[in-house]
Amino acid sequence: MTDRLTPTQRHYVMSRIHGKGTKPELMVRQWLWRHGYRYRLNVNSVPGKPDIVMRRYRTAIFVNGCFWHGHHVQFSVSSCQLIVNSSCCKIPQTNREFWVNKIKRNQERDERNYQLLRDNGWQVIVVWECQLQQKKLEATMLQVELQLNENFLALHQPKPKPYESGEETPLSMAAESRN
Ligand SMILES: [Zn+2]
Repeated sequence: MTDRLTPTQRHYVMSRIHGKGTKPELMVRQWLWRHGYRYRLNVNSVPGKPDIVMRRYRTAIFVNGCFWHGHHVQFSVSSCQLIVNSSCCKIPQTNREFWVNKIKRNQERDERNYQLLRDNGWQVIVVWECQLQQKKLEATMLQVELQLNENFLALHQPKPKPYESGEETPLSMAAESRN
């Protein structure tokens, strides 16, 4: 990819990669660890290779950089027209079309991954970089924790009884044994 970038673009990319402060993903991991949550990282066997995998909660957590993943940015479906501007994902004016295309593709890939996970029975939590600013971190992570606990409860809820009437007919028993 770098070969296709102009020096200006490359400089922009590098400035985004070497951001200051702690890596957002690390902040999420540290918070979870401190609060007793255990997880695995970048598990290849889970679709979309989530940043953090919590099997006990059947939950995949993605920690997304606002720029690359296009936080709050919306493009029109048919073209790459920007229809909603974002304060945390500012698309450069220089080579705008290049960036718009890139970020739109990233968004589409993210959506595909999330859907694939949901189709496989996973819950998806997306944490955005801008939600991890110092004054927002605690509230954001409490939301994540709440979601984790809801996911856990949903996993361990007693299964609804298959027959409401009480009487099992041979037909329904046959249907059950197939499963
Ligand atoms: Zn953001």
